[in-house]
Amino acid sequence: MRAPGWPGLIRQYGKYLPVTDKTPVVTLLEGGTPLIPAPKLSKWAGGGVKLYLKYEGLNPTGSFKDRGMTMAISKAKEEGAQAVVCASTGNTAASAAAYAARAGIPCIILIPKGAVALGKLAQGLMHGAKVLQVLGNFDDALTVVRDLGRSYRITIVNSINPYRIEGQKTGAFEICDVLGKAPAFQAMPVGNAGNITAYWKGYREYLSAGKIKKTPVMLGFQAAGSAPIVHGKPVADPHTIATAIKIGNPASWKSAVAARDQSGGLIRAVTDDEILAAYRALSSLEGVFCEPASAAGVAGVRALARKGYFRACKDRTIACILTGHGLKDPSAAISQFGRIHSVPPTPAAVAKALGLKGR
Ligand SMILES: *Cc1c(COP(=O)(O)O)cnc(C)c1O
Repeated sequence: MRAPGWPGLIRQYGKYLPVTDKTPVVTLLEGGTPLIPAPKLSKWAGGGVKLYLKYEGLNPTGSFKDRGMTMAISKAKEEGAQAVVCASTGNTAASAAAYAARAGIPCIILIPKGAVALGKLAQGLMHGAKVLQVLGNFDDALTVVRDLGRSYRITIVNSINPYRIEGQKTGAFEICDVLGKAPAFQAMPVGNAGNITAYWKGYREYLSAGKIKKTPVMLGFQAAGSAPIVHGKPVADPHTIATAIKIGNPASWKSAVAARDQSGGLIRAVTDDEILAAYRALSSLEGVFCEPASAAGVAGVRALARKGYFRACKDRTIACILTGHGLKDPSAAISQFGRIHSVPPTPAAVAKALGLKGR
């Protein structure tokens, strides 16, 4: 999809975005990520589904957050912001830090202590952001950020910033541009719920623009230990291996529910075991390495397929949004699947360990 000379999503989709000729475009040429067919994973999921993987891990900082951040930071620069601030489970921080560095704007990051994957932390630090660990969870950190935004002259770049949603909706445009129509279903993880809000907005705008005839059914998935929308009430102490969606009180709760209901979709929970199985299947069957949270969408599709959810559907094309790259969280992979044998440095020992037979 990313054609040679891809100009970044603001220049590609400018006519759908709140930018003018005066907006300074702060870009790392994000967007234009591939939509990869996944035939083996489709069989694995069952139910006759036809899965496509929107590999958002291939964005410049390794997650879809770059789509929102190119917009948020460009507009912050246009408005003369003195600094930007965000609370983050990691990827928002990595992205904000990179785009703020490029824009020459100071960046402040609040992360929940001990709950951020290693790769993401490294990014925030390397891009020169001021990183503080909050002795609390993501929801606590976001509450502090909202207060700071009210009391000080700093711009919040969490997804409560509407420009974030505007940038992120371009993911929906790209999927439709590749398929020539909307997929029948879209499956994705739901954390703070900005992204499901953004994709739904994108599909509706493409419908109004006459680019597609039908919008997809939106399928959102939360981790079972962190599923406030599923249970209909905030979770005070969320837990899951999928740290990017470990959020107990989503900021975009209402618009996520609207996306679910207007599209005739659902938001369900998947267990950490189901997430890990999908995480492994994605990388071992299709060669696509995403982070655990990203696998929640695929895990959810499989769970639905097993219950016969797709049985009555003629079109079972499903776009799964793989929100972040697997290299973001190497400890998750290694702690779950990283048993390595040690062998002496001899052909005989290696052959024996591998069970190779002689010619
Ligand atoms: C931010 C993030 C999510 C959750 O997206 P929301 O917009 O908060 O629902 C899921 N996966 C990854 C990898 C993320 O970085």
